[in-house]
Amino acid sequence: PVRIGVLALQGDVREHAAILTALGAEAVLVRRPEQLADLDGLVIPGGESSVIDKLSRIFGLREPLRALIADGLPVYGTCAGLILLADEIQGAIDGQLTFGGLDVTVARNAFGGQVESFETTLAVQGIDGEVAATFIRAPLITRVGPRAKAIASLPDGGVVAVEQGGLLGTSFHPEMNGETRLHARLLQLVEARRSAVAA
Ligand code: GLN
Repeated sequence: PVRIGVLALQGDVREHAAILTALGAEAVLVRRPEQLADLDGLVIPGGESSVIDKLSRIFGLREPLRALIADGLPVYGTCAGLILLADEIQGAIDGQLTFGGLDVTVARNAFGGQVESFETTLAVQGIDGEVAATFIRAPLITRVGPRAKAIASLPDGGVVAVEQGGLLGTSFHPEMNGETRLHARLLQLVEARRSAVAA
């Protein structure tokens, strides 16, 4: 089976691993640089992006991860994971850094105030039917650069999902509702990369 890492420094690691396993992939919890070896793809879960950033530096994962992203490793980031994949963020705290890769700007905690969490369903380009989406202190994608493509928006036009090459990012958590089709999309990106490498 394909080997998909789940960055397991903080956040809702378990739910992602369960979905990947249900889709037939081998899920590898990644806490140390050695565990990045031989991965076909990676999920960066939701949680707190500044904490995941800090821990990634402490555990020596930041530079190897950046190298893998630059090399074209397919990566799916949800919520805090999306923030960590963004080239630029608004509302950074504690000098937080991102791994980068997605040509987007993301505003942290953009739905703050009264309505910090909500559930909805959304159309996502490339996926049939509505996708279940949970937003929890979620970021909003405020700029989509020329290399990235918006694939889902809220009714008010706010962009909440993007794709760029092997990278996929969503403001929302699909895993909380047992929604598996974005992870399935990651597995498609993994297949696309494998055939491109084999060709
Ligand atoms: N607000 C969090 C952050 O900025 C993201 C929340 C989440 O991942 N559910 O990292």
